[in-house]
Amino acid sequence: MLYGREDQKSAKEGYLEPLFGTNAEDHDIPKYKLDKKPVEPRVAYRLVKDELLDEGNSRQNLATFCQTYMEDKATKLMAETLEKNAIDKSEYPRTAEIENRCVNILADLWNVPRDEQFMGTSTVGSSEACMLGGMAMKFRWCKVAEKFGLDTQARKPNLVISSGYQVCWEKFCVYWDIELRSVPIDEKHLSINLDRVMDYVDKYTIGIVGILGITYTGKFDDIKVLNDLVEEYNQKTDYKVVIHVDGASGAMFAPFIDPELEWDFRLKNVVSINTSGHKYGLVYPGIGWIVWRNKEYLPEELIFKVNYLGGETPTMAINFSRSASHVIGQYYNFLRYGFEGYRDIHIRTKDVALFLTKEVESTGLFEIYNDGANLPIVCYQLKDDANVAWTLYDLADRLLMKGWQVPTYPLPENLQNIIIQRYVVRADFGHNIAESFIEDFKEALKELSVARVLFHEKKENGKYGFTH
Ligand SMILES: *Cc1c(COP(=O)(O)O)cnc(C)c1O
Repeated sequence: MLYGREDQKSAKEGYLEPLFGTNAEDHDIPKYKLDKKPVEPRVAYRLVKDELLDEGNSRQNLATFCQTYMEDKATKLMAETLEKNAIDKSEYPRTAEIENRCVNILADLWNVPRDEQFMGTSTVGSSEACMLGGMAMKFRWCKVAEKFGLDTQARKPNLVISSGYQVCWEKFCVYWDIELRSVPIDEKHLSINLDRVMDYVDKYTIGIVGILGITYTGKFDDIKVLNDLVEEYNQKTDYKVVIHVDGASGAMFAPFIDPELEWDFRLKNVVSINTSGHKYGLVYPGIGWIVWRNKEYLPEELIFKVNYLGGETPTMAINFSRSASHVIGQYYNFLRYGFEGYRDIHIRTKDVALFLTKEVESTGLFEIYNDGANLPIVCYQLKDDANVAWTLYDLADRLLMKGWQVPTYPLPENLQNIIIQRYVVRADFGHNIAESFIEDFKEALKELSVARVLFHEKKENGKYGFTH
């Protein structure tokens, strides 16, 4: 490797040298170990940007629920607060106060009754929040089991959830040695099967998770009816069952577009709710939230005290240090948009989803599974009698040629023979972008109808378990 030329250069020469005339472009910089010498910041910047060149454009990524756009002022604010550590409550007391305000805003949005002493925290995302929610349910159950003399060693405790669960629940059950009892979804029940869910519950059940927005299809579990079933069950047992709502995507969407829908703390047995601030909370990836309706549902053992202005403040995070910039970004959005701002954005996002559904349906080739009526998610399968030679995987490939990343995958357990394609419509996918997408979509269908080369065998199902 050549270092001599760089060594001899004066600072001024280095500055004047054109970017692609620098020494860094003379040789292949080691990728898997450190290079010996530093490079200039502008060179490092360029090299890293270039590495990311062909990664795909996140705005054209229809797979992710995660936010891909924030306002300039928000990103400026977040960039300026990167150094703040969210866990250092005494060094950054104003940041701690901002987190506290966000928890209060969410508790209010989720209709926590006035007489409840709610608690909550920010997390890295819903996965950490679900882990905390699950742990709290397990600790609570242990106490109940002890109180009533249940043999806790006889069997594993279990968690009941629809088979449309996100992978974080599987992780939770593996890490905490809990039996995951999944209630299969079927053609008639694309969300939790309310006719069967209570058959899965017994004395060893730590709780039921209702999902407000199944990742695969965008459907909401009917939490209100679930609450009624749980209430009926609880009347007859000492082993009261609680509900945690996984509202990763729905808990920051439903309150704005459908405030009448009862799925939250208005329901007596809903004891905790999580959400991803980076989904419909409209913050870049790295923020989640959980709120418990009352501190009685958050066992003491899970709360750790940290110093805070000479006093102590409770924390219940799994992680320790992380930047507070995402918490600050969340607060910016709350302040900036207010209720009506969020509602306007979400209504428009939903309109785009309905528009896409209509366009896809009008081709006559697809059967719609979710039309954007709950979350702004469009998903569909190819009709059995579509009579085409290509598969949805081929269509995805065609769309990728125009930069669109459209996930195609089988539904979970029990429905794994059904291959679906899904668009997650986000705030930054406006009607104008949607029009260009549909143009490309129709063009792709036209090309496929005359194509002779096929890239996928019909029997290939791809991998089950698309999780985001
Ligand atoms: C996205 C999602 C999660 C995981 O959330 P992260 O914020 O990515 O950790 C959990 N549950 C559901 C229903 C989700 O959609």
